Amino acid sequence: MSDSSQPIPELSVVVPVFNEARNLRPLAARLASVLAGLGLSFEVILIDDGSGDETLQTLRELNAADPRFSALSFSRNFGKEIAIAAGLDAARGRAVVVMDADLQHPPEVIPQFVEKWREGYQNIYGRRIGRATDPKLRTMFTRLFYRLIDQFGDVALPEGAGDFRLLDRQAVDALLRMRERARFNKGLFAWIGFKTIGVPFVVERRAFGVSSFNFARLVSFALDGLMSFSSIPLKVWTYVGLAISGVALMMAAWFFIKTIIYGVDLPGYASLMVSIAFFSGVQLLSLGVIGEYIARIFAEVKGRPLYLVAERIGAEPLTKG
Ligand code: UDP
Ligand code: MG
Repeated sequence: MSDSSQPIPELSVVVPVFNEARNLRPLAARLASVLAGLGLSFEVILIDDGSGDETLQTLRELNAADPRFSALSFSRNFGKEIAIAAGLDAARGRAVVVMDADLQHPPEVIPQFVEKWREGYQNIYGRRIGRATDPKLRTMFTRLFYRLIDQFGDVALPEGAGDFRLLDRQAVDALLRMRERARFNKGLFAWIGFKTIGVPFVVERRAFGVSSFNFARLVSFALDGLMSFSSIPLKVWTYVGLAISGVALMMAAWFFIKTIIYGVDLPGYASLMVSIAFFSGVQLLSLGVIGEYIARIFAEVKGRPLYLVAERIGAEPLTKG
Protein backbone atom coordinates (compact mmCIF):
# COMPACT_ATOMS: atom_id res chain seq x y z
CA MET A 1 0.00 0.00 0.00
CA SER A 2 1.28 3.47 -0.84
CA ASP A 3 0.99 6.53 1.35
CA SER A 4 -1.12 9.61 0.73
CA SER A 5 1.69 11.79 -0.59
CA GLN A 6 1.60 9.85 -3.85
CA PRO A 7 0.43 12.05 -6.74
CA ILE A 8 -2.28 9.72 -8.08
CA PRO A 9 -4.50 8.59 -5.21
CA GLU A 10 -5.99 5.10 -5.17
CA LEU A 11 -9.39 6.19 -3.91
CA SER A 12 -11.36 9.32 -4.82
CA VAL A 13 -14.37 10.51 -2.88
CA VAL A 14 -16.75 12.78 -4.78
CA VAL A 15 -19.17 14.97 -2.82
CA PRO A 16 -21.71 17.35 -4.40
CA VAL A 17 -22.16 20.33 -2.11
CA PHE A 18 -24.90 22.94 -2.13
CA ASN A 19 -25.16 25.28 0.86
CA GLU A 20 -23.65 22.81 3.31
CA ALA A 21 -21.18 25.09 5.12
CA ARG A 22 -22.05 23.72 8.55
CA ASN A 23 -21.84 20.08 7.48
CA LEU A 24 -18.44 20.26 5.78
CA ARG A 25 -16.17 20.19 8.82
CA PRO A 26 -17.90 17.26 10.54
CA LEU A 27 -17.98 15.46 7.18
CA ALA A 28 -14.29 16.08 6.52
CA ALA A 29 -13.35 14.93 10.02
CA ARG A 30 -15.33 11.70 9.76
CA LEU A 31 -14.10 11.04 6.22
CA ALA A 32 -10.46 11.63 7.13
CA SER A 33 -10.56 9.24 10.05
CA VAL A 34 -12.42 6.51 8.13
CA LEU A 35 -10.21 6.81 5.03
CA ALA A 36 -7.02 6.84 7.10
CA GLY A 37 -7.95 3.40 8.39
CA LEU A 38 -8.20 1.92 4.90
CA GLY A 39 -4.54 1.86 4.03
CA LEU A 40 -5.24 3.50 0.67
CA SER A 41 -4.09 6.85 -0.59
CA PHE A 42 -7.10 9.05 -1.20
CA GLU A 43 -8.42 12.40 -2.41
CA VAL A 44 -11.74 14.02 -1.57
CA ILE A 45 -13.22 16.20 -4.30
CA LEU A 46 -16.00 18.50 -3.18
CA ILE A 47 -18.07 20.17 -5.86
CA ASP A 48 -19.51 23.48 -4.76
CA ASP A 49 -22.69 23.65 -6.81
CA GLY A 50 -23.12 27.43 -6.70
CA SER A 51 -23.65 27.70 -2.96
CA GLY A 52 -24.72 31.02 -1.52
CA ASP A 53 -23.49 30.46 2.03
CA GLU A 54 -20.03 30.04 3.56
CA THR A 55 -19.42 26.79 1.67
CA LEU A 56 -16.70 28.13 -0.65
CA GLN A 57 -14.73 29.75 2.18
CA THR A 58 -14.98 26.57 4.22
CA LEU A 59 -13.72 24.53 1.26
CA ARG A 60 -10.69 26.83 0.95
CA GLU A 61 -9.93 26.32 4.62
CA LEU A 62 -10.32 22.56 4.36
CA ASN A 63 -7.90 22.46 1.44
CA ALA A 64 -5.40 24.65 3.28
CA ALA A 65 -5.53 22.32 6.27
CA ASP A 66 -5.34 19.11 4.24
CA PRO A 67 -4.47 19.21 0.52
CA ARG A 68 -6.10 15.81 -0.01
CA PHE A 69 -9.37 17.77 0.17
CA SER A 70 -9.77 19.67 -3.08
CA ALA A 71 -12.76 21.43 -4.58
CA LEU A 72 -14.33 22.71 -7.75
CA SER A 73 -16.68 25.63 -7.58
CA PHE A 74 -19.34 25.97 -10.27
CA SER A 75 -20.20 29.36 -11.76
CA ARG A 76 -23.79 28.80 -10.63
CA ASN A 77 -26.07 26.04 -9.40
CA PHE A 78 -26.16 23.24 -11.97
CA GLY A 79 -27.88 20.62 -9.83
CA LYS A 80 -26.67 17.60 -7.91
CA GLU A 81 -26.60 15.22 -10.88
CA ILE A 82 -24.30 17.52 -12.85
CA ALA A 83 -22.13 18.11 -9.77
CA ILE A 84 -21.61 14.36 -9.50
CA ALA A 85 -20.64 14.25 -13.19
CA ALA A 86 -18.04 16.98 -12.58
CA GLY A 87 -16.68 15.05 -9.62
CA LEU A 88 -16.33 11.89 -11.72
CA ASP A 89 -14.54 13.95 -14.39
CA ALA A 90 -12.06 15.22 -11.83
CA ALA A 91 -11.57 11.99 -9.88
CA ARG A 92 -8.27 10.22 -10.50
CA GLY A 93 -8.59 7.22 -8.23
CA ARG A 94 -8.81 3.56 -9.22
CA ALA A 95 -12.09 3.59 -7.35
CA VAL A 96 -14.48 6.46 -6.76
CA VAL A 97 -16.95 6.85 -3.92
CA VAL A 98 -19.93 9.16 -4.46
CA MET A 99 -21.71 10.50 -1.38
CA ASP A 100 -23.85 13.38 -0.08
CA ALA A 101 -22.39 16.17 2.02
CA ASP A 102 -25.15 16.30 4.63
CA LEU A 103 -23.97 13.17 6.51
CA GLN A 104 -27.03 11.19 5.47
CA HIS A 105 -24.52 8.84 3.87
CA PRO A 106 -22.35 7.68 6.79
CA PRO A 107 -18.64 7.60 5.82
CA GLU A 108 -18.27 4.58 8.11
CA VAL A 109 -19.87 2.42 5.36
CA ILE A 110 -17.03 3.14 2.92
CA PRO A 111 -14.73 0.38 4.31
CA GLN A 112 -17.47 -2.15 3.48
CA PHE A 113 -17.62 -0.76 -0.07
CA VAL A 114 -13.85 -1.08 -0.37
CA GLU A 115 -14.01 -4.63 0.94
CA LYS A 116 -16.48 -5.56 -1.83
CA TRP A 117 -14.30 -3.74 -4.35
CA ARG A 118 -11.31 -5.80 -3.28
CA GLU A 119 -13.45 -8.90 -3.78
CA GLY A 120 -13.83 -7.83 -7.41
CA TYR A 121 -17.12 -5.93 -7.47
CA GLN A 122 -17.08 -2.84 -9.64
CA ASN A 123 -20.41 -1.14 -8.96
CA ILE A 124 -21.18 -1.24 -5.24
CA TYR A 125 -24.20 0.68 -4.09
CA GLY A 126 -25.43 1.62 -0.64
CA ARG A 127 -28.85 0.05 -0.16
CA ARG A 128 -30.83 2.21 2.20
CA ILE A 129 -32.78 0.25 4.76
CA GLY A 130 -35.87 2.20 5.70
CA ARG A 131 -36.70 5.64 4.41
CA ALA A 132 -37.63 6.68 7.92
CA THR A 133 -36.13 10.13 7.49
CA ASP A 134 -38.28 11.04 4.49
CA PRO A 135 -41.75 12.61 4.75
CA LYS A 136 -44.67 10.21 4.13
CA LEU A 137 -45.90 11.86 0.94
CA ARG A 138 -42.42 11.84 -0.56
CA THR A 139 -42.07 8.12 0.24
CA MET A 140 -45.40 7.46 -1.47
CA PHE A 141 -44.41 9.23 -4.67
CA THR A 142 -40.97 7.65 -4.61
CA ARG A 143 -42.64 4.22 -4.55
CA LEU A 144 -44.92 5.17 -7.44
CA PHE A 145 -41.95 6.44 -9.43
CA TYR A 146 -39.99 3.21 -8.92
CA ARG A 147 -43.03 1.16 -9.93
CA LEU A 148 -43.30 3.14 -13.17
CA ILE A 149 -39.57 2.87 -13.97
CA ASP A 150 -39.71 -0.82 -13.16
CA GLN A 151 -42.66 -1.36 -15.52
CA PHE A 152 -41.66 0.88 -18.38
CA GLY A 153 -38.00 1.76 -18.06
CA ASP A 154 -35.19 -0.02 -19.85
CA VAL A 155 -33.05 -0.27 -16.71
CA ALA A 156 -33.79 -2.25 -13.58
CA LEU A 157 -33.10 -0.05 -10.56
CA PRO A 158 -32.12 -2.14 -7.57
CA GLU A 159 -34.40 -1.60 -4.58
CA GLY A 160 -33.18 1.07 -2.18
CA ALA A 161 -30.19 2.03 -4.33
CA GLY A 162 -29.22 5.68 -4.33
CA ASP A 163 -26.22 7.76 -5.25
CA PHE A 164 -24.10 6.58 -2.32
CA ARG A 165 -21.75 4.07 -3.92
CA LEU A 166 -18.29 2.97 -4.95
CA LEU A 167 -17.41 2.66 -8.63
CA ASP A 168 -14.39 0.92 -10.03
CA ARG A 169 -12.30 2.89 -12.54
CA GLN A 170 -13.76 0.84 -15.39
CA ALA A 171 -17.31 1.82 -14.36
CA VAL A 172 -16.28 5.46 -13.92
CA ASP A 173 -14.78 5.51 -17.41
CA ALA A 174 -18.04 4.11 -18.77
CA LEU A 175 -19.97 6.91 -17.05
CA LEU A 176 -17.56 9.52 -18.38
CA ARG A 177 -18.59 8.57 -21.90
CA MET A 178 -22.18 9.58 -21.20
CA ARG A 179 -22.36 13.31 -21.59
CA GLU A 180 -26.13 13.68 -21.52
CA ARG A 181 -27.54 16.78 -19.88
CA ALA A 182 -30.73 15.36 -18.42
CA ARG A 183 -28.79 13.23 -16.00
CA PHE A 184 -30.47 10.68 -13.84
CA ASN A 185 -27.47 9.14 -12.15
CA LYS A 186 -29.33 6.31 -10.47
CA GLY A 187 -30.40 5.17 -13.92
CA LEU A 188 -26.96 5.68 -15.44
CA PHE A 189 -25.32 3.72 -12.62
CA ALA A 190 -27.68 0.83 -13.34
CA TRP A 191 -27.39 1.17 -17.11
CA ILE A 192 -23.61 0.65 -17.20
CA GLY A 193 -23.89 -2.72 -15.50
CA PHE A 194 -20.59 -4.29 -14.30
CA LYS A 195 -20.34 -6.57 -11.30
CA THR A 196 -22.90 -5.01 -8.99
CA ILE A 197 -23.74 -5.56 -5.33
CA GLY A 198 -25.60 -3.68 -2.60
CA VAL A 199 -24.35 -2.94 0.90
CA PRO A 200 -27.14 -2.10 3.36
CA PHE A 201 -26.84 1.09 5.40
CA VAL A 202 -29.14 3.11 7.60
CA VAL A 203 -29.85 6.60 6.28
CA GLU A 204 -29.02 9.16 8.89
CA ARG A 205 -30.87 12.38 9.41
CA ARG A 206 -29.49 15.40 7.60
CA ALA A 207 -26.99 16.96 10.04
CA PHE A 208 -27.65 20.67 9.42
CA GLY A 209 -29.96 22.56 7.10
CA VAL A 210 -32.84 21.29 4.99
CA SER A 211 -33.06 19.19 1.83
CA SER A 212 -32.88 21.28 -1.33
CA PHE A 213 -35.30 19.01 -3.13
CA ASN A 214 -38.81 20.37 -2.81
CA PHE A 215 -41.79 18.65 -4.38
CA ALA A 216 -41.61 20.47 -7.73
CA ARG A 217 -37.91 19.71 -8.10
CA LEU A 218 -38.50 16.05 -7.29
CA VAL A 219 -41.28 15.81 -9.88
CA SER A 220 -39.07 17.32 -12.56
CA PHE A 221 -36.25 14.97 -11.53
CA ALA A 222 -38.63 12.00 -11.75
CA LEU A 223 -39.72 13.08 -15.24
CA ASP A 224 -36.06 13.29 -16.29
CA GLY A 225 -35.57 9.79 -14.98
CA LEU A 226 -38.60 8.33 -16.71
CA MET A 227 -37.96 10.05 -20.02
CA SER A 228 -34.25 9.26 -20.09
CA PHE A 229 -34.89 5.58 -19.64
CA SER A 230 -38.21 4.94 -21.34
CA SER A 231 -39.87 5.91 -24.59
CA ILE A 232 -43.15 4.29 -23.56
CA PRO A 233 -44.83 7.64 -22.72
CA LEU A 234 -44.08 8.64 -26.31
CA LYS A 235 -45.34 5.45 -27.90
CA VAL A 236 -48.39 4.77 -25.77
CA TRP A 237 -50.46 7.30 -27.75
CA THR A 238 -50.43 5.06 -30.80
CA TYR A 239 -52.35 2.47 -28.80
CA VAL A 240 -54.57 5.01 -27.06
CA GLY A 241 -55.41 6.46 -30.50
CA LEU A 242 -56.10 3.04 -31.96
CA ALA A 243 -58.38 2.08 -29.10
CA ILE A 244 -60.31 5.34 -29.28
CA SER A 245 -60.69 5.08 -33.07
CA GLY A 246 -61.95 1.52 -32.66
CA VAL A 247 -64.57 2.60 -30.13
CA ALA A 248 -65.56 5.52 -32.38
CA LEU A 249 -66.06 3.17 -35.35
CA MET A 250 -68.23 0.85 -33.29
CA MET A 251 -70.24 3.81 -32.06
CA ALA A 252 -70.70 5.01 -35.63
CA ALA A 253 -72.02 1.60 -36.67
CA TRP A 254 -74.33 1.50 -33.66
CA PHE A 255 -75.75 4.98 -34.39
CA PHE A 256 -76.20 4.09 -38.04
CA ILE A 257 -78.23 0.97 -37.25
CA LYS A 258 -80.17 2.76 -34.51
CA THR A 259 -81.10 5.61 -36.86
CA ILE A 260 -82.30 3.20 -39.57
CA ILE A 261 -84.48 1.30 -37.11
CA TYR A 262 -85.74 4.07 -34.78
CA GLY A 263 -85.21 7.24 -36.84
CA VAL A 264 -83.31 10.39 -35.83
CA ASP A 265 -82.74 10.81 -32.08
CA LEU A 266 -82.83 14.12 -30.18
CA PRO A 267 -79.30 15.66 -30.40
CA GLY A 268 -77.32 15.00 -27.23
CA TYR A 269 -75.68 18.30 -26.29
CA ALA A 270 -74.21 17.14 -22.97
CA SER A 271 -72.62 13.98 -24.30
CA LEU A 272 -71.14 15.92 -27.24
CA MET A 273 -69.61 18.52 -24.97
CA VAL A 274 -68.19 15.91 -22.64
CA SER A 275 -66.63 13.88 -25.41
CA ILE A 276 -65.17 16.97 -27.12
CA ALA A 277 -63.65 18.12 -23.85
CA PHE A 278 -62.34 14.66 -23.04
CA PHE A 279 -60.70 14.04 -26.39
CA SER A 280 -59.25 17.57 -26.53
CA GLY A 281 -57.69 16.77 -23.20
CA VAL A 282 -56.26 13.50 -24.48
CA GLN A 283 -54.80 15.26 -27.51
CA LEU A 284 -53.23 18.07 -25.50
CA LEU A 285 -51.80 15.56 -23.06
CA SER A 286 -50.19 13.52 -25.81
CA LEU A 287 -48.84 16.71 -27.43
CA GLY A 288 -47.47 17.75 -24.06
CA VAL A 289 -45.66 14.45 -23.65
CA ILE A 290 -44.13 14.84 -27.11
CA GLY A 291 -43.17 18.40 -26.12
CA GLU A 292 -41.37 17.11 -23.03
CA TYR A 293 -39.25 14.82 -25.16
CA ILE A 294 -38.58 17.51 -27.75
CA ALA A 295 -37.49 19.92 -25.02
CA ARG A 296 -35.00 17.31 -23.85
CA ILE A 297 -33.79 16.65 -27.40
CA PHE A 298 -33.38 20.43 -27.81
CA ALA A 299 -31.34 20.69 -24.62
CA GLU A 300 -29.11 17.81 -25.74
CA VAL A 301 -28.50 18.95 -29.33
CA LYS A 302 -27.40 22.40 -28.22
CA GLY A 303 -24.38 20.54 -26.88
CA ARG A 304 -23.55 23.10 -24.22
CA PRO A 305 -20.96 22.13 -21.63
CA LEU A 306 -22.47 20.23 -18.72
CA TYR A 307 -21.11 22.74 -16.22
CA LEU A 308 -18.77 25.71 -15.85
CA VAL A 309 -16.07 25.83 -13.21
CA ALA A 310 -15.48 29.28 -11.72
CA GLU A 311 -12.76 28.29 -9.29
CA ARG A 312 -10.54 25.34 -8.59
CA ILE A 313 -9.28 24.82 -5.10
CA GLY A 314 -6.28 22.54 -5.10
CA ALA A 315 -7.69 20.21 -7.75
CA GLU A 316 -5.55 18.97 -10.62
CA PRO A 317 -6.60 20.67 -13.86
CA LEU A 318 -7.90 17.45 -15.35
CA THR A 319 -11.56 18.36 -15.64
CA LYS A 320 -13.51 18.95 -18.77
CA GLY A 321 -16.98 20.44 -19.20
N1 UDP B 1 -26.87 19.15 -3.83
C1 UDP B 1 -26.17 19.72 -4.88
N2 UDP B 1 -26.81 20.58 -5.73
C2 UDP B 1 -28.14 20.89 -5.60
C3 UDP B 1 -28.86 20.26 -4.55
C4 UDP B 1 -28.20 19.40 -3.70
O1 UDP B 1 -24.98 19.48 -5.05
O2 UDP B 1 -28.64 21.67 -6.40
C5 UDP B 1 -26.19 18.22 -2.91
C6 UDP B 1 -26.38 18.51 -1.44
O3 UDP B 1 -25.45 19.43 -0.96
C7 UDP B 1 -26.18 17.14 -0.83
C8 UDP B 1 -26.77 16.20 -1.89
O4 UDP B 1 -26.74 16.94 -3.11
O5 UDP B 1 -24.82 16.84 -0.66
C9 UDP B 1 -28.17 15.75 -1.55
O6 UDP B 1 -29.01 16.85 -1.40
P1 UDP B 1 -30.16 16.94 -0.32
O7 UDP B 1 -29.67 16.45 1.00
O8 UDP B 1 -30.70 18.33 -0.37
O9 UDP B 1 -31.23 15.94 -0.92
P2 UDP B 1 -31.97 14.70 -0.23
O10 UDP B 1 -31.00 14.07 0.72
O11 UDP B 1 -33.15 15.27 0.45
O12 UDP B 1 -32.31 13.81 -1.39
MG1 MG C 1 -29.83 14.85 2.08
